[in-house]
Amino acid sequence: MQIIRDIATLHRAVAALKRDGKSVALVPTMGALHEGHLSLVRMGKRVADHVVVSIFVNPTQFGPNEDFAAYPRDEARDAALLAGEGVALLWAPDVSVMYPAGHSTHIEVAELGSDYCGAARPGHFDGVATVVAKLFNQVRPDVAIFGEKDWQQLAIIRRMARDLDFHLDILGAPVARNGDGLALSSRNAYLSEAQRAAATAFPDALKAAVTAIAGGADVGESLAAAEKAIVAGGFDSVDYVALADADSLERLGAFRAPARLLAAARIGKTRLIDNYPVG
Ligand code: AMP
Repeated sequence: MQIIRDIATLHRAVAALKRDGKSVALVPTMGALHEGHLSLVRMGKRVADHVVVSIFVNPTQFGPNEDFAAYPRDEARDAALLAGEGVALLWAPDVSVMYPAGHSTHIEVAELGSDYCGAARPGHFDGVATVVAKLFNQVRPDVAIFGEKDWQQLAIIRRMARDLDFHLDILGAPVARNGDGLALSSRNAYLSEAQRAAATAFPDALKAAVTAIAGGADVGESLAAAEKAIVAGGFDSVDYVALADADSLERLGAFRAPARLLAAARIGKTRLIDNYPVG
């Protein structure tokens, strides 16, 4: 596996991979890889001839009081995992390569990015969309793979690719979970043992709400019950628990398919997100 840090070398290496009409899948990540990321890589291997993974902790998607500096980084471990999966190329640019001095153009995500995580993290999705657009232009993949774990992000990337005429397929991979239901996340590493034990209250409450809503219970009451259960389970606060149209992300006051239950909650300094299909 080649590890590449500059754009000229990247272009040459991707051109070599694409020789003879071979296809390339891109899996963008911020590193601190876990089985969820590796499930995206495996999907890439199934749908394309070569897989390119990017690792870039993107400063522009973190708010001033968020965990950019503390975000877990272990490139050597990540590279070994990716090499073991048969990844062709690891694209790991420095911030100064991604955003050279004078960088001044960005993408603004309108209504899809304003609610849910966008409300709690102003500017977050502008940063995500901008860096993903840059990654698409840098690698020119035939297909890019994102996790359903970040449902709002996936919807925004699909919309961006359509709005800006990126010529590629976007695939979503199912949420990978621990045995107790907690979604895998690089940020789970922040949890103390006690917080990690309490964290299962989050998926448990969401699953209960999914069952209730799919069974015809009142949506508002089901969402309120989930929020209560998350806090009772040891979380400090709930950013949102919402029923949304799975595609447009419009908030739903009554169930209609296709719907998704979206949620974010805070335990100590750690903010966790999760989502489930409903019905
Ligand atoms: P991140 O490194 O957190 O930016 O995530 C990189 C990609 O991996 C994103 O497309 C995420 O949605 C995806 N991902 C992260 N955690 C999971 C998970 N538990 N299951 C599926 N995909 C995930």
